[in-house]
Amino acid sequence: MNSKPLPLGEAIALMLPHLKPLASEEKPLLDCLGLRSAEDCFAQWPQPPFDNAMMDGFAVRSADTQQPGADLLVVARQPAGRARNLKCGPGEAVRIFTGAPMPEGADAVVMQEDCELTGARVRCLVSATAGEFVRRQGSEVCIGQRLVHRGQRLTAARIGLLASQGCSHHRVIPQAKVLVVSTGDELRAPGAGPLLPGEIYESAATMLRAQIAGWGLPMPEGGHCGDHPRALAEWLGQCCNHCDVVVICGGVSVGEHDPVKPALQQLGIEPILWRIQLKPGKPFLFAKQQRPQGGSTLIFGLPGNPVSAFVTAELLLRPTLMSMQGNTDWNPERQTVVLAEELSNPGDRPHYLRGKVEGGMFYAVGLQQSHALFGLSQCNALLALAPGQSLAQGHPVEVLPC
Ligand code: AMP
Ligand code: MG
Repeated sequence: MNSKPLPLGEAIALMLPHLKPLASEEKPLLDCLGLRSAEDCFAQWPQPPFDNAMMDGFAVRSADTQQPGADLLVVARQPAGRARNLKCGPGEAVRIFTGAPMPEGADAVVMQEDCELTGARVRCLVSATAGEFVRRQGSEVCIGQRLVHRGQRLTAARIGLLASQGCSHHRVIPQAKVLVVSTGDELRAPGAGPLLPGEIYESAATMLRAQIAGWGLPMPEGGHCGDHPRALAEWLGQCCNHCDVVVICGGVSVGEHDPVKPALQQLGIEPILWRIQLKPGKPFLFAKQQRPQGGSTLIFGLPGNPVSAFVTAELLLRPTLMSMQGNTDWNPERQTVVLAEELSNPGDRPHYLRGKVEGGMFYAVGLQQSHALFGLSQCNALLALAPGQSLAQGHPVEVLPC
């Protein structure tokens, strides 16, 4: 473990070897929505699977219709459904409907609006060209063609495409099971009655759960543990067995009442990373617990101050969860805007300022302090200022939308 707080880049480099996509699972197709495909998927069938009519009308031999007003004998009827193995000979037509297989010999469909039916005879008012209103077998997809790439997200359309190939299940990278635990004897759960002197309502862990769900993951489970290392160690011992990621909120520093490091010590877990050069968000911990039954659980210790928790979650937890979902090329989209005012960072750590982007301008908003949740609620972007950096009004900057 590092002895001094690490720059963000070095912290990420330390974490990277531990970030791997979760083991793939085969799931019912509809449960795959939004997940990443664990495999390349190739067409087993051509698409369309057989020549079929694009319109309701009459299947004909196009050569028979070269004279407008051609008069043909209607010999059979083919609705969509099981092929009746029909034939269309010279001078003949087959009544046909959208999606129905083309009769042998017919090479075009004349749509019903362009026909006059009298008894068993049909007059084609227009001449047809070969292939007209026919969806040819394999004209969109041929056997062996790659339909979905490994790592691609399964959108509704891709799910439809797989269904059109007869797939009922698909192998995907599942979503991480996350648990968020708050620590702190001063916390009272929202809804658990009025505050006693010295208490505050728990907010940071609730926000983290919403933040994680906002990234497209299932809503994480929540829990609370006081500032007792033994109780937290017991919690972790139980939870780590069924979670991919445990996020502990608060208690990550070295105060006498900070339970995270002592709890990990009791469990024999050595943190991989502790503290980063970041404002807000210096108290940050990353560790890994090997599960007795195989596999591992990643443990994040995030600051209890809500703004610090939010920023560290955006910068470090979010990329981790993305890569566990197989989204290794995930790169937060940055936006280039200009400063509405002069901004500076007199401190010795990079400062992630909370601000609002409006009309292409960035305005710092609210109290820039790590507990200032109201200010955070006003912001839609983060701007990183390096230590000692000062930027003039009108300066172009890249911000991280949040
Ligand atoms: P800690 O990280 O435990 O040292 O807490 C830092 C500050 O954040 C303290 O003022 C705590 O009371 C506050 N805090 C800790 N956890 C939470 C939480 N879950 N919700 C709101 N505030 C918290
Ligand atoms: Mg605390």
